[in-house]
Amino acid sequence: MIQLKNSAQLAAMKDAGRITGEALLVARDMVRPGVSTYEIDMALRRHIERCGAKPAFLGYNGFPASACISINDEVIHGIPSKKRILKEGDIVKIDTGATYHGYVGDSARTIPVGHVSEEAMRLIQTTRDSFFAGIEALKVGNRLGDIGSAIDTLVRANGFSTVKRYVGHGIGTNMHEAPDVPNFGTPGRGIRLCAGMTLAIEPMVNVGTFEVKEMPDGWTVKTLDGSLSAHYENTVALTSEGVLILTEVEKGF
Ligand code: MG
Ligand code: MG
Repeated sequence: MIQLKNSAQLAAMKDAGRITGEALLVARDMVRPGVSTYEIDMALRRHIERCGAKPAFLGYNGFPASACISINDEVIHGIPSKKRILKEGDIVKIDTGATYHGYVGDSARTIPVGHVSEEAMRLIQTTRDSFFAGIEALKVGNRLGDIGSAIDTLVRANGFSTVKRYVGHGIGTNMHEAPDVPNFGTPGRGIRLCAGMTLAIEPMVNVGTFEVKEMPDGWTVKTLDGSLSAHYENTVALTSEGVLILTEVEKGF
């Protein structure tokens, strides 16, 4: 069942979203060659806890850290480690969440490490653009398929492919609530969008095939063909006045 949020619930979602967005800024500012993904995870965890919130990922289905940090051909769910050291030319996906007063924020960014290839930059930009194409379709009275279709159309127009196996989701007192929000779809199909919905919209975009594989660690997901992958996610709210991007705390990031 889809849980619509009233204005008091939305206010709590805004706080959780802001803390999540700030944690990603802390993480971004640490990204440079030589830093371990463990150090980044600990820094954003400290920020979340200093705000009086809880890291939403820590212990979620047994996940051992406060962020999923995935490098290059890793799509999502990478486990932070002292042994994973960022190097010049990598692209790193940082996905985190905070729970505050019972409500959850969930957001991800892909960040270049030093100088990266032109193709990597174009992938990162296209993934971000596809999120905003999806947001354009997030309107009261539209259908869920309009969002996914807008995302996938932009991705394909840029020669990349959209991951199908993992999707966005409703979010509120739980990180994952109904409905699923695929990053592909048919315009005019799916449930009708209405005010009070809060969603995590999160395109995952690959340079090569859309297909992915899970690693033996039980978490990390990689592209099947080893090509680069990017991820961009915000928690958003649809209101009668329009869309609020709850986890965006710095325009342009
Ligand atoms: Mg996420
Ligand atoms: Mg999510």
